[in-house]
Amino acid sequence: MQDNYISEEMVQKTVAFHGHMCPGLAIGIRAAEVALRDIGPHAHDEEVVAVVETDMCGVDAIQSLTGCTFGKGNLIHLDYGKNAFTFYRRSDGKGIRLVTRLEAFAEPDPEWEALRERLGDADLTPEERKRFWELHAARSRQILDIPLNELFDLKEPEGNIPSHARVMDSVTCEGCSEQVMETRTRRFEGKTLCIPCFHQLEQR
Ligand SMILES: [Zn+2]
Ligand SMILES: [Zn+2]
Repeated sequence: MQDNYISEEMVQKTVAFHGHMCPGLAIGIRAAEVALRDIGPHAHDEEVVAVVETDMCGVDAIQSLTGCTFGKGNLIHLDYGKNAFTFYRRSDGKGIRLVTRLEAFAEPDPEWEALRERLGDADLTPEERKRFWELHAARSRQILDIPLNELFDLKEPEGNIPSHARVMDSVTCEGCSEQVMETRTRRFEGKTLCIPCFHQLEQR
């Protein structure tokens, strides 16, 4: 990485949080780098909101590095299956959307690809497995060194900043008696139900 937004120590913490180094995590680390550079970190007096269009490895890097997390409600997942990450700063409304560029990635190492194909095979030896993870980490490390403007297309976000997460009233599900946020209930045969109870009744 070319600048000081993310230290090697922060990379190591992110790898520990995620459980391994992989290309998806590396892409997330670089997206977080752009977010920290152009939007700044989430803080008490500066709310940053991330909208991720994937639920793969990279999202763990966003959570670990930018202060946008599911638990705080400032990380929103759209299930589009795209390597696209949008960051907004509430104070002035600034937003950026990053999309990975296919051209940025080097040709994959044939040895890495061949081992990856065989990962699930029972006859893969411990040495081969170790070799795969070495090559996998090397490929991920390469992504950390790609210039940011080659790795991502920087675009204008399409939508507005998502509205604040609100605290919703809870009601009692008439199926399982558990408390459920009112906005997540379903009405069925005159009853107010949580989503799993609704699905159970609906499938009878
Ligand atoms: Zn991963
Ligand atoms: Zn229920």
